[in-house]
Amino acid sequence: MEPQTKRWKGSECDSDSWVAYPVLSDERSQDVELIEAFAAPIVNKKETSRLIRELSGLYPLSSLQHIKRVRAVKEKGSPHPLEVLVCLVSDAPDTRAVTIRSLLPSDGPQCDGLGEPFVVKVPARPPLTRPQFELASKHWPTSFHEDKQVTVALRGELFGPSQKSHMREYMLSALTAAKAGHELGMEAVGAVVVDPVEERIIAVGHDCRGHHPLHHAVMVCIDLVAQSQGGGCYPFDRYPACTFNPAPNSDPIPTDPDTEASSQPYICTGYDFYVTREPCVMCAMALVHSRVGRVFYGTASADGALGTKYKIHTQKDLNHRFEVYKGVLMDVYTCRESVDHVLRKSC
Ligand SMILES: [Zn+2]
Repeated sequence: MEPQTKRWKGSECDSDSWVAYPVLSDERSQDVELIEAFAAPIVNKKETSRLIRELSGLYPLSSLQHIKRVRAVKEKGSPHPLEVLVCLVSDAPDTRAVTIRSLLPSDGPQCDGLGEPFVVKVPARPPLTRPQFELASKHWPTSFHEDKQVTVALRGELFGPSQKSHMREYMLSALTAAKAGHELGMEAVGAVVVDPVEERIIAVGHDCRGHHPLHHAVMVCIDLVAQSQGGGCYPFDRYPACTFNPAPNSDPIPTDPDTEASSQPYICTGYDFYVTREPCVMCAMALVHSRVGRVFYGTASADGALGTKYKIHTQKDLNHRFEVYKGVLMDVYTCRESVDHVLRKSC
């Protein structure tokens, strides 16, 4: 069987104004958590090296390796050019009437060169993204090891015009399948699986739960991919829009996902998955098990498991993780009434 070739053509919505944004883990997308610390002015700049060394011995701040110990004072006219972190508020011996002497034991660092302490808020954890870094740095100078791909993705610039053109075609195929399924009385959700290296569609499917409660569009497509590799469990012959493209020189599907003996990938290894709506928990777990490479979806779903309710693709205790991008083809989604109907349905 050949994949569906009759595509849903965009018309007035061909402007490609949509942007695919990454769905990042909570730790990468959450606000910067702050923690209170005592800082003090360095009134004698010549004492800076000694103060850093001695304060680091007394209060190592080992959980705050991402924080720079000293910051320059940017305000013009400040009587002191530098400020130093002394300790966390939670580490202070007594927080009722804090003076620099009360923070430093009599046999510890000399407080010569230090002014009286004051409370500042510093980032509790290392920033993982540029937006987190920029927010963190407003509070206290912070180190940052940048993942430039994430930075570019967060700006919505990871995919160039050529890639977006391909992504658009794939999502239009998924929408076409969704429409075909809906005309058969199914939930209006469609999906497409693509080999991004060969730019080849492996499978196209839509929701088929009218005849089986578990046959969500994603589950259907994963089975169709398995069928393209000589496996699969369910016949979808009664649904003309559910098709697969047999891999050239198909070998039998391996039974062990980690086997390297076969020339074929294990189900969806390295493949891209386009689905009109954010998948549910069952489908997201099936995507984990199928070893999918990337998932692209159009709109979020209230019970969605790839960003809205859960972020299953970022779970560290699962044995496979994958990238997820949302918002593909949102311009088409938002300006076609018929597609709005598609979007109101759930995965
Ligand atoms: Zn589902």
